[in-house]
Amino acid sequence: MATINDNYLKLKAGYLFPEIGRRVNAFADANPDAKIIRLGIGDVTEPLPEACRNAMIKAVEDMGDRATFKGYGPEQGYPWLREKIATDDFQARGCEVDASEIFISDGSKCDTGNILDIFGDNNTIAVTDPVYPVYVDTNVMAGHTGDGNKKGEYEGLIYLPITAENNFTAQIPSQKVDLIYLCFPNNPTGSTATKEHLKAWVDYANSHGSIIFFDAAYEAYITDPSLPHSIYEIEGARNCAIEFRSFSKNAGFTGTRCALTVVPKTLTAKAADGSDVELWKLWNRRQATKFNGVSYIIQRGAEAVYSEEGKAQIKALISFYLENASIIREKLTAAGLAVYGGINAPYVWVKTPNGLSSWDFFDKLIDTCNVVGTPGSGFGAAGEGYFRISAFNSRENVEEAMKRITDKFKV
Ligand SMILES: *Cc1c(COP(=O)(O)O)cnc(C)c1O
Repeated sequence: MATINDNYLKLKAGYLFPEIGRRVNAFADANPDAKIIRLGIGDVTEPLPEACRNAMIKAVEDMGDRATFKGYGPEQGYPWLREKIATDDFQARGCEVDASEIFISDGSKCDTGNILDIFGDNNTIAVTDPVYPVYVDTNVMAGHTGDGNKKGEYEGLIYLPITAENNFTAQIPSQKVDLIYLCFPNNPTGSTATKEHLKAWVDYANSHGSIIFFDAAYEAYITDPSLPHSIYEIEGARNCAIEFRSFSKNAGFTGTRCALTVVPKTLTAKAADGSDVELWKLWNRRQATKFNGVSYIIQRGAEAVYSEEGKAQIKALISFYLENASIIREKLTAAGLAVYGGINAPYVWVKTPNGLSSWDFFDKLIDTCNVVGTPGSGFGAAGEGYFRISAFNSRENVEEAMKRITDKFKV
């Protein structure tokens, strides 16, 4: 009889979004005329930049000609894309990242999960709380945790709370942890990390032999010039950090699929015999075995992100979402709510008023304003008492939702 990976049974069965759907449907059934606006989504809404579309159309034509047709590409990605990323995203910011250290993939979600393939099962693992659920669930699947409790906390993981009290930057742990997940600008809180904060993490990791998984999916939303876009802007990071980046949130590739992971060749971890092994070699081996590269067409689309037109179009796209975030911040503040994030990130993190729970605030907002957001408690126990509003929406929806909140919502 075949058996299963029992770790999957420990997973909280995708509680958050199904529960939101259930409550929204119940409200819609009871109030058939209500025009519900959804500000809960973590997906982009605006169309792909023209430069990327044109590059992909041309790439489709390349595939129709024997002379330019492409079969399997390099598992690590085409050199022309890796070179552009190395120069424009990293070297231009003073980071010592070589094209050979960049691995093109079909998503940061997959990469942040797959990276566990090359690490041992006995590492101590830390995540922030609240957190992007993928980091937690992939560790559960890999058998790195015990059971979860009602709040969604798993035995064996170390949770580092990020709340208004610590300005949404996790305190460096006092004990030793081997693997640390950091995401800045942060989903869901919209908070950022200063160079000093990242330096403290890099120093911690280098002194404990830990590896930092740095998720920079939202780096393009950084508007404050003093903030680092890459962890490799921090001295010492090449010895302790893997960085994940994606074209999903800067160029709207959530449905197109292209991302990248940087594994510096200077990064090592211990084998069972105590020797130091280069992680680059293991990740290269893993990708070459389990992955056959991203479509040529899509990689040409991603390359166009670095063209002059592409850069201008992406800048406009990000400005559009950040303006949505600014409207959300302004109107919610005017309604008497405490808001965080939304300046260098497309998410606004709201403190629920009068000690309401995240779900009570959810119900109140849909009842009074017919507006849907995401309860903070769904991202972790320390998200209780908070609420996420996404700036990924049309201007019309954002303005209408905020008008309803300022008109009708009474703290
Ligand atoms: C959206 C997002 C990503 C990007 O994931 P893709 O698989 O590249 O679309 C990565 N990390 C976080 C925290 C995100 O919110």
